[in-house]
Amino acid sequence: MTVISLDDVAFSYGDVPVIDGISLDVEQGEFLGLVGPNGSGKSTLLTLLLGLQRPDRGEVRLFGEPAHQFADGERIAYVAQDVTKTARDMPITVREVVRMGRYPRNLFGRFSDADHEAVETALDRVDIVDLADRRVGSLSGGQRQRVFVARALAAETDLLALDEPTVALDAESRESFYDLLRDLNEQGMTIVLVEHDISVVTARASRIACLNKRLYFHGSPDDFAESDALAAAYGANQRVLDHDHCPLNADTGHTHGTGGPSRTDE
Ligand code: ADP
Repeated sequence: MTVISLDDVAFSYGDVPVIDGISLDVEQGEFLGLVGPNGSGKSTLLTLLLGLQRPDRGEVRLFGEPAHQFADGERIAYVAQDVTKTARDMPITVREVVRMGRYPRNLFGRFSDADHEAVETALDRVDIVDLADRRVGSLSGGQRQRVFVARALAAETDLLALDEPTVALDAESRESFYDLLRDLNEQGMTIVLVEHDISVVTARASRIACLNKRLYFHGSPDDFAESDALAAAYGANQRVLDHDHCPLNADTGHTHGTGGPSRTDE
Protein backbone atom coordinates (compact mmCIF):
# COMPACT_ATOMS: atom_id res chain seq x y z
CA MET A 1 0.00 0.00 0.00
CA THR A 2 1.18 3.50 -0.81
CA VAL A 3 1.21 5.66 2.31
CA ILE A 4 2.41 8.92 0.78
CA SER A 5 2.44 9.95 -2.83
CA LEU A 6 3.87 13.18 -4.24
CA ASP A 7 3.35 14.10 -7.85
CA ASP A 8 5.31 17.02 -9.31
CA VAL A 9 5.12 19.03 -6.10
CA ALA A 10 6.40 22.61 -6.05
CA PHE A 11 6.42 25.11 -3.21
CA SER A 12 7.73 28.65 -2.63
CA TYR A 13 7.95 30.92 0.38
CA GLY A 14 6.79 34.17 -1.19
CA ASP A 15 8.62 34.22 -4.50
CA VAL A 16 11.52 32.05 -3.29
CA PRO A 17 11.15 28.54 -4.69
CA VAL A 18 12.09 25.89 -2.13
CA ILE A 19 10.67 22.69 -3.62
CA ASP A 20 10.73 22.26 -7.36
CA GLY A 21 8.88 19.45 -9.09
CA ILE A 22 9.36 16.55 -6.66
CA SER A 23 7.60 13.23 -7.26
CA LEU A 24 8.03 10.22 -5.00
CA ASP A 25 6.03 7.53 -3.22
CA VAL A 26 6.45 6.08 0.25
CA GLU A 27 5.20 2.52 0.59
CA GLN A 28 3.93 0.90 3.76
CA GLY A 29 6.78 -0.54 5.84
CA GLU A 30 9.38 1.71 4.27
CA PHE A 31 11.99 3.67 6.23
CA LEU A 32 12.66 6.74 4.11
CA GLY A 33 15.60 8.96 4.96
CA LEU A 34 15.18 12.48 3.57
CA VAL A 35 18.65 13.97 3.26
CA GLY A 36 20.18 17.11 1.78
CA PRO A 37 22.21 20.13 2.82
CA ASN A 38 20.98 22.73 5.27
CA GLY A 39 18.26 24.85 3.70
CA SER A 40 17.61 22.32 0.93
CA GLY A 41 13.90 22.06 1.70
CA LYS A 42 13.78 18.88 3.81
CA SER A 43 11.60 20.27 6.62
CA THR A 44 9.38 21.99 4.10
CA LEU A 45 8.95 18.77 2.14
CA LEU A 46 8.04 16.95 5.35
CA THR A 47 5.28 19.46 6.13
CA LEU A 48 4.02 19.15 2.54
CA LEU A 49 3.89 15.38 2.61
CA LEU A 50 2.04 15.41 5.94
CA GLY A 51 -0.51 17.87 4.54
CA LEU A 52 0.53 20.62 7.00
CA GLN A 53 1.13 22.99 4.07
CA ARG A 54 -0.34 22.89 0.58
CA PRO A 55 1.93 22.84 -2.46
CA ASP A 56 1.71 25.60 -5.05
CA ARG A 57 1.68 22.96 -7.74
CA GLY A 58 1.29 19.20 -7.92
CA GLU A 59 -0.49 16.76 -5.69
CA VAL A 60 0.18 15.12 -2.32
CA ARG A 61 -1.85 12.10 -1.24
CA LEU A 62 -1.85 10.49 2.21
CA PHE A 63 -3.25 6.96 2.39
CA GLY A 64 -4.83 7.67 -1.01
CA GLU A 65 -6.59 10.90 0.01
CA PRO A 66 -5.59 14.47 -0.86
CA ALA A 67 -3.23 15.36 2.01
CA HIS A 68 -4.81 18.71 2.85
CA GLN A 69 -8.17 16.98 3.35
CA PHE A 70 -6.77 14.08 5.30
CA ALA A 71 -8.57 14.01 8.63
CA ASP A 72 -7.50 10.71 10.15
CA GLY A 73 -4.83 12.15 12.40
CA GLU A 74 -4.70 8.96 14.43
CA ARG A 75 -2.77 7.35 11.59
CA ILE A 76 0.11 9.83 11.69
CA ALA A 77 2.60 10.84 14.34
CA TYR A 78 4.91 13.79 13.81
CA VAL A 79 7.91 14.39 16.05
CA ALA A 80 9.00 17.93 15.27
CA GLN A 81 12.54 19.24 15.37
CA ASP A 82 14.25 19.38 18.73
CA VAL A 83 11.40 18.27 20.98
CA THR A 84 14.05 17.90 23.63
CA LYS A 85 13.25 21.49 24.57
CA THR A 86 9.55 20.72 24.72
CA ALA A 87 8.00 20.12 28.12
CA ARG A 88 11.30 20.83 29.80
CA ASP A 89 9.66 22.86 32.51
CA MET A 90 6.29 21.16 32.69
CA PRO A 91 5.43 19.31 35.90
CA ILE A 92 4.24 16.28 34.01
CA THR A 93 5.43 12.69 34.21
CA VAL A 94 6.70 10.52 31.41
CA ARG A 95 3.64 8.26 31.59
CA GLU A 96 1.33 11.29 31.36
CA VAL A 97 3.05 12.49 28.19
CA VAL A 98 2.80 9.04 26.63
CA ARG A 99 -0.89 8.86 27.58
CA MET A 100 -1.44 11.96 25.46
CA GLY A 101 -0.96 9.70 22.47
CA ARG A 102 -4.32 8.14 23.35
CA TYR A 103 -6.28 11.35 23.93
CA PRO A 104 -7.46 11.85 20.34
CA ARG A 105 -9.61 8.78 20.74
CA ASN A 106 -10.51 9.46 24.39
CA LEU A 107 -11.62 13.06 24.39
CA PHE A 108 -13.10 12.82 27.86
CA GLY A 109 -10.19 10.94 29.31
CA ARG A 110 -12.04 7.67 29.80
CA PHE A 111 -9.22 5.24 29.33
CA SER A 112 -9.96 1.61 28.58
CA ASP A 113 -7.78 -1.35 29.49
CA ALA A 114 -6.57 -1.33 25.88
CA ASP A 115 -5.46 2.31 26.27
CA HIS A 116 -3.50 1.55 29.43
CA GLU A 117 -1.93 -1.45 27.78
CA ALA A 118 -0.91 0.59 24.73
CA VAL A 119 0.79 3.14 26.99
CA GLU A 120 2.69 0.48 28.95
CA THR A 121 3.68 -1.29 25.75
CA ALA A 122 4.97 1.96 24.25
CA LEU A 123 7.03 2.70 27.37
CA ASP A 124 8.49 -0.76 27.16
CA ARG A 125 9.29 -0.59 23.44
CA VAL A 126 11.47 2.48 23.83
CA ASP A 127 12.92 1.15 27.06
CA ILE A 128 11.76 3.86 29.46
CA VAL A 129 9.54 1.83 31.82
CA ASP A 130 11.81 2.69 34.73
CA LEU A 131 11.39 6.41 33.95
CA ALA A 132 7.57 6.32 33.74
CA ASP A 133 6.93 8.20 37.00
CA ARG A 134 9.74 10.72 36.57
CA ARG A 135 9.02 14.29 35.57
CA VAL A 136 9.86 14.88 31.92
CA GLY A 137 11.84 17.97 32.86
CA SER A 138 14.28 15.92 34.92
CA LEU A 139 15.34 13.71 31.99
CA SER A 140 18.28 14.00 29.63
CA GLY A 141 17.68 15.10 26.04
CA GLY A 142 17.95 11.55 24.72
CA GLN A 143 15.53 10.18 27.30
CA ARG A 144 13.05 12.97 26.52
CA GLN A 145 13.31 12.20 22.84
CA ARG A 146 12.28 8.63 23.58
CA VAL A 147 9.28 9.87 25.54
CA PHE A 148 7.94 11.65 22.46
CA VAL A 149 8.49 8.63 20.29
CA ALA A 150 6.67 6.53 22.93
CA ARG A 151 3.77 8.97 22.75
CA ALA A 152 3.67 8.41 18.99
CA LEU A 153 3.79 4.65 19.50
CA ALA A 154 0.97 4.73 22.06
CA ALA A 155 -1.14 6.41 19.41
CA GLU A 156 -0.55 3.29 17.27
CA THR A 157 -0.14 5.32 14.12
CA ASP A 158 0.73 3.81 10.76
CA LEU A 159 3.25 6.50 9.96
CA LEU A 160 5.95 8.11 12.09
CA ALA A 161 7.52 11.28 10.70
CA LEU A 162 10.50 12.87 12.43
CA ASP A 163 12.36 16.08 11.67
CA GLU A 164 16.00 15.96 12.75
CA PRO A 165 15.04 14.42 16.07
CA THR A 166 18.57 14.05 17.39
CA VAL A 167 19.83 17.58 16.86
CA ALA A 168 20.41 18.04 20.59
CA LEU A 169 21.84 14.60 21.32
CA ASP A 170 25.40 13.42 21.75
CA ALA A 171 26.82 10.89 19.29
CA GLU A 172 26.11 7.85 21.45
CA SER A 173 22.48 8.79 22.21
CA ARG A 174 22.01 9.56 18.56
CA GLU A 175 23.19 6.13 17.45
CA SER A 176 20.97 4.33 19.94
CA PHE A 177 17.99 6.50 19.00
CA TYR A 178 18.45 5.60 15.33
CA ASP A 179 18.80 1.93 16.25
CA LEU A 180 15.44 2.27 17.97
CA LEU A 181 13.91 3.70 14.79
CA ARG A 182 15.35 0.84 12.78
CA ASP A 183 13.85 -1.68 15.22
CA LEU A 184 10.45 0.00 15.03
CA ASN A 185 10.64 -0.12 11.26
CA GLU A 186 11.55 -3.81 11.34
CA GLN A 187 8.42 -4.32 13.45
CA GLY A 188 6.36 -2.79 10.65
CA MET A 189 6.12 0.95 11.23
CA THR A 190 6.48 3.23 8.21
CA ILE A 191 9.02 5.95 8.99
CA VAL A 192 9.97 9.18 7.25
CA LEU A 193 13.03 10.80 8.78
CA VAL A 194 14.54 14.17 7.91
CA GLU A 195 18.23 14.18 8.75
CA HIS A 196 21.18 16.12 7.40
CA ASP A 197 23.77 13.72 8.84
CA ILE A 198 23.83 11.18 6.08
CA SER A 199 25.91 8.38 7.56
CA VAL A 200 23.45 7.60 10.38
CA VAL A 201 20.57 7.40 7.91
CA THR A 202 22.13 5.36 5.15
CA ALA A 203 23.03 2.70 7.72
CA ARG A 204 19.38 2.19 8.71
CA ALA A 205 16.89 3.53 6.15
CA SER A 206 15.46 1.29 3.45
CA ARG A 207 15.17 4.17 0.97
CA ILE A 208 16.98 7.46 0.59
CA ALA A 209 15.61 10.61 -0.98
CA CYS A 210 18.30 13.23 -1.52
CA LEU A 211 17.12 16.70 -2.33
CA ASN A 212 18.23 20.24 -2.77
CA LYS A 213 15.11 22.01 -3.98
CA ARG A 214 14.69 19.26 -6.53
CA LEU A 215 15.07 15.51 -6.08
CA TYR A 216 18.58 14.29 -6.90
CA PHE A 217 18.11 10.70 -5.87
CA HIS A 218 15.45 8.29 -4.70
CA GLY A 219 16.38 4.66 -4.15
CA SER A 220 18.27 2.22 -1.96
CA PRO A 221 21.13 3.30 0.33
CA ASP A 222 23.55 1.10 -1.64
CA ASP A 223 22.63 2.68 -4.95
CA PHE A 224 22.86 6.08 -3.29
CA ALA A 225 26.42 5.37 -2.13
CA GLU A 226 27.39 4.48 -5.68
CA SER A 227 25.66 7.36 -7.38
CA ASP A 228 27.00 10.85 -7.81
CA ALA A 229 23.74 12.31 -6.46
CA LEU A 230 25.25 13.30 -3.15
CA ALA A 231 28.00 15.42 -4.64
CA ALA A 232 25.52 16.88 -7.13
CA ALA A 233 22.95 17.81 -4.48
CA TYR A 234 25.55 19.32 -2.16
CA GLY A 235 27.40 20.89 -5.07
CA ALA A 236 27.79 24.61 -4.58
CA ASN A 237 26.80 24.42 -0.91
CA GLN A 238 29.68 22.16 -0.02
CA ARG A 239 32.06 24.83 1.23
CA VAL A 240 29.55 26.59 3.43
CA LEU A 241 28.40 23.45 5.18
CA ASP A 242 29.34 22.71 8.73
CA HIS A 243 32.45 20.60 8.20
CA ASP A 244 31.47 17.80 10.58
CA HIS A 245 27.99 17.52 9.19
CA CYS A 246 28.91 17.54 5.55
CA PRO A 247 28.80 13.93 4.36
CA LEU A 248 31.51 14.71 1.87
CA ASN A 249 33.81 15.35 4.81
CA ALA A 250 32.52 12.69 7.16
CA ASP A 251 34.30 9.39 7.40
CA THR A 252 31.38 7.19 6.48
CA GLY A 253 33.36 4.35 4.99
CA HIS A 254 31.62 4.93 1.68
CA THR A 255 33.54 5.72 -1.44
CA HIS A 256 31.40 8.59 -2.58
CA GLY A 257 32.72 12.11 -2.40
CA THR A 258 34.86 14.51 -4.30
CA GLY A 259 37.22 11.82 -5.52
CA GLY A 260 34.98 10.92 -8.43
CA PRO A 261 32.25 8.49 -7.44
CA SER A 262 31.72 5.56 -9.72
CA ARG A 263 28.45 5.08 -11.50
CA THR A 264 27.24 1.60 -12.18
CA ASP A 265 23.97 2.17 -13.95
CA GLU A 266 22.33 4.39 -16.55
P1 ADP B 1 16.06 22.15 5.51
O1 ADP B 1 15.07 21.43 6.37
O2 ADP B 1 16.62 21.29 4.42
O3 ADP B 1 17.14 22.83 6.28
P2 ADP B 1 13.94 24.08 5.12
O4 ADP B 1 12.77 23.40 4.50
O5 ADP B 1 13.88 24.36 6.57
O6 ADP B 1 15.27 23.30 4.72
O7 ADP B 1 14.17 25.48 4.39
C1 ADP B 1 14.30 25.59 2.98
C2 ADP B 1 14.47 27.07 2.63
O8 ADP B 1 13.26 27.76 2.92
C3 ADP B 1 15.55 27.76 3.41
O9 ADP B 1 16.18 28.69 2.56
C4 ADP B 1 14.81 28.47 4.51
O10 ADP B 1 15.49 29.63 4.91
C5 ADP B 1 13.50 28.80 3.84
N1 ADP B 1 12.36 28.82 4.77
C6 ADP B 1 12.02 27.83 5.63
N2 ADP B 1 10.91 28.14 6.33
C7 ADP B 1 10.54 29.37 5.88
C8 ADP B 1 9.47 30.26 6.21
N3 ADP B 1 8.55 29.92 7.12
N4 ADP B 1 9.40 31.42 5.55
C9 ADP B 1 10.33 31.78 4.62
N5 ADP B 1 11.36 30.99 4.27
C10 ADP B 1 11.47 29.81 4.89
